[in-house]
Amino acid sequence: MAEKMSIKEAAAVNGSRHVLGISGGKDSAALAIHIKLRYPKIHEKVEYFFTDTGAELQEIYDFLDRLESFLGKEIIRLDSGRSFEHWLKVHNGYLPSAKQRWCTRVMKIRPFEEFVGDDPVISYIGIRADENREGYISQKESIKAVFPFIDDGLVRDDIFQILEDTVGIPEYYKWRSRSGCYFCFFQRQDEWLGLKRNHPELFEKAKEFEQRERKKFDWQDGEVAVGGYGYTWSSQGTIDELVARAEKREKEQGIIASSKTSSVRWQDILRESDDDDADDQACLICSL
Ligand code: SF4
Repeated sequence: MAEKMSIKEAAAVNGSRHVLGISGGKDSAALAIHIKLRYPKIHEKVEYFFTDTGAELQEIYDFLDRLESFLGKEIIRLDSGRSFEHWLKVHNGYLPSAKQRWCTRVMKIRPFEEFVGDDPVISYIGIRADENREGYISQKESIKAVFPFIDDGLVRDDIFQILEDTVGIPEYYKWRSRSGCYFCFFQRQDEWLGLKRNHPELFEKAKEFEQRERKKFDWQDGEVAVGGYGYTWSSQGTIDELVARAEKREKEQGIIASSKTSSVRWQDILRESDDDDADDQACLICSL
């Protein structure tokens, strides 16, 4: 974990770059808005950036456009220069997982570290005052971390208020609790179901990754198929199986998730629900 600094200390520092990573999620977006409104001098200096894995939802790009115009500053787009398919090949066809999380390292952290180089950097991070997590961020010694929400005592409800008052809550929160890649293995079963309903073509693409044939060379038998670990996005089964379980649960509960269209707004349902996972290490760089 990078060394910490308070926002007041950060405001007084000269000669460092100030950066804020926008993930497409609610907290980092609200943080950028909070900085603009409450710390305009810091906002002038901050380089806002988004690291694109090439596997993002269209809703995220739409949200970034709205945020960019509110901030009145460019959100710099970074990427790893190659597609997920390329990196998958480099990793011998093993799908990433919470334990083998090469995707974040290669497609998020490395482009960020190249972006900042060895410059002294102050990085603003959207962890809230009502959370207790550290997460998965760069370990570079030249980077100091600042947590403005913690310094200013802002909690989950404040984040929703900031967004509702400005750019709105990203649309995908209707069915998904995080930003990040459409195939992210941190998704819950009902989120895979949400992907299937809202982006059937992306669900099919995620399925194709599970159905690839993976072979290795065996000195006795020549090319042989390799099965098992690293073939599915979840250790609990294929995404078709996960979706079937989510549908079954939905039927048992007598609720059709996509028909929550009573007079209550989805934004209010979301605001009142407690769907943040304190152990969710996906968040910091991918989906905070
Ligand atoms: S969003 Fe998920 S799949 Fe994408 S880089 Fe992050 S952890 Fe990996």
